Amino acid sequence: MNYHSTRNSGISVSSAQAISQGISKEGGLFVPEKLPHFLYSDLLELQHCSYTERAVRILSAFLSDFTAEEITECVKSAYTGGKFDQDMPAPISYLQNGKMNMYLLELWHGPTCAFKDMALQLLPHLLTKSLKKIQSSKTALILVATSGDTGKAALEGFKDVDGTRIQVFYPENGVSPMQKRQMNTQEGSNVSVCAIEGNFDDAQTGVKKIFTNPEISRLLEQNGIMFSSANSINWGRLLPQIVYYFSAYCDLMANGEIDYEGEKVNIVVPTGNFGNILAAYYAKKMGLPVKKLICASNANNVLTDFLNTGVYDRNRDFHTTISPSMDILVSSNLERLLYDLTGNNSEKITGWMNELSSSGRYKVDEDILSQIHELFYAGFCDDAATKETIKEIYQTENYLCDTHTAVAVNVYHQYAEAEQDEETPTIIVSTASPYKFADSVLNAVSSEYRADASEFEKVQELSAVTGTPIPTPIAELEAKKVRFDTICSKDKMGEAVLKTAGIKYTV
Ligand SMILES: *Cc1c(COP(=O)(O)O)cnc(C)c1O
Repeated sequence: MNYHSTRNSGISVSSAQAISQGISKEGGLFVPEKLPHFLYSDLLELQHCSYTERAVRILSAFLSDFTAEEITECVKSAYTGGKFDQDMPAPISYLQNGKMNMYLLELWHGPTCAFKDMALQLLPHLLTKSLKKIQSSKTALILVATSGDTGKAALEGFKDVDGTRIQVFYPENGVSPMQKRQMNTQEGSNVSVCAIEGNFDDAQTGVKKIFTNPEISRLLEQNGIMFSSANSINWGRLLPQIVYYFSAYCDLMANGEIDYEGEKVNIVVPTGNFGNILAAYYAKKMGLPVKKLICASNANNVLTDFLNTGVYDRNRDFHTTISPSMDILVSSNLERLLYDLTGNNSEKITGWMNELSSSGRYKVDEDILSQIHELFYAGFCDDAATKETIKEIYQTENYLCDTHTAVAVNVYHQYAEAEQDEETPTIIVSTASPYKFADSVLNAVSSEYRADASEFEKVQELSAVTGTPIPTPIAELEAKKVRFDTICSKDKMGEAVLKTAGIKYTV
C-alpha cells in the first residue's frame, strides 16, 4: 500500500517513507491510497484476540512494506511489558445506573496518563524501522513543541530508543504544574527538555524555524543526524488510533453488548487537532458499524461551527479552558477528512488550505457539507458545563472523569436529546486520567476544595474524597528528581537543539 499527499495526489510513497518524512514536501499530509476493508467475519475472529493481536492485524493491512515479524515486534514493545496497567491499553468502563448505553473507552492507562500514549508508545518503533527501510543510517532528532500532553508522551515513547534523540520545548507559563513536573523529571539518556520564555505559538514557531534553518540542517547533516517529527500529522501517530475503535467494538461483542450482526454504535470524541476522531472515521470506512461520529469541543468551538455550517473560520478569540489539550483553532487533521470527502481532490484541498493561511477562513461545497452532516454530529460546552458534567456523572454513576472526557459526555447528552437517540450503544472516548487535571476535577466534585493547596495535595485530596486510586505514574512524580530546569529565550532554541544533538557550536 502506498501513500498520497493531500496536496498532491500524484505523490506516492511507501509507509516507511511517509512515517520517516512526517509531512509531504509541499505541506500536504500523507494518506493511504485505499482503505483496507474488514468484514463481520473478521470482527468475529478479532473479538477473541488480545489487544496486541488486534493491533497486528490492523497495522498489517496498512504497512505492506513491513514484515509480520517487524509489526509484531513493534506492537509488543509498545503495549506489553507493563507499559500499560495490567497490559490492557484500552479497557472499557461500563456504567451501572445509566439509562443510556454509554461505554467509556479509557485510553489513559499508559505511562503519562493521557491517550497520546496509545500512539506515542508505538511511533518510535515504527519510526526507527522505517528509517532503516529507507536506508537511512542517521540518528533521528525529534523536535516537539508542546502545550502539555504531547511533550510528555513523546518523551516517554522515545526515551532510550536506539537511534533517536528528543528535544521538547514548552511555554514556561503555558502548561499545568503537573505537566511541567512530568516533563522536568523525565528520565532517559537521549532526552532534553527546555522551557521557553513565551507562549505555545512562540514554541511552535521556533521549532518550525529550526526545521527550516539551513545552517542547523548543514551541521546536523555533517554529524549524521536528521530531524523528525512526533506531531499528530505523522501517519505513524494516526494509524495506532484506528486500532482501539476496532478493539472496543470487539470487546462489546465479546461481552454480549452487541445484539446482532452489524449493530451500529455511536462514537463520541473530545476533539482538538481532529486526529482521534479522524481515526474513528477511518475505522467506520473500513467496515466498523458506526452510526454517528460525535465531535465534542470546548469553548474553542471552531470545529462545531465548521461541521454545522461548512465554514471554517479561525478568526475568533482563543479561550484558555480547563480542557487545555483541546484549546486549538487550527485542526490540522481535518485536511485528511476533506481530501477523502472530495474524492482525493488535492487541488481543492490546496486552495482551501491556502485560504486558511491567508485569510483564516474557507468554505466547503454543499455536497461536502451534506456528507459531513450524514457522518457527524458536532457540539461544544464551556468550562462551567464541563464541571457540572463531572459532578453529575460522579454523583449518578460514581464515575470520575477528567475535563476532556466530561466535554464528550456533555456533548453526547446534547446529541441524544437533539436526535432522540438514547438506544444506540455509544462509545465515549475517555482521553485523560482525572488525576492529570486534579485541580478542576476536585473543584467539581468536592466542597472542600482549596484553590491554594499544592498540586500534590489536590491529588491526595481527590483520592481521599472519591476513594479512587492515584495512578502510579502520578504518585511517583512527587519524589522524582528534577532533571531539567533550563529556561531559554525564543532566539536561543536553535542552540539548545545543537547541544542536544551533541554538536559544538559557537556563534
Ligand atoms: C490531545 C488530546 C485531545 C485531542 O485529541 P485530538 O486528536 O487532537 O483531537 C483530547 N484530550 C486529551 C486529554 C488530549 O491530550
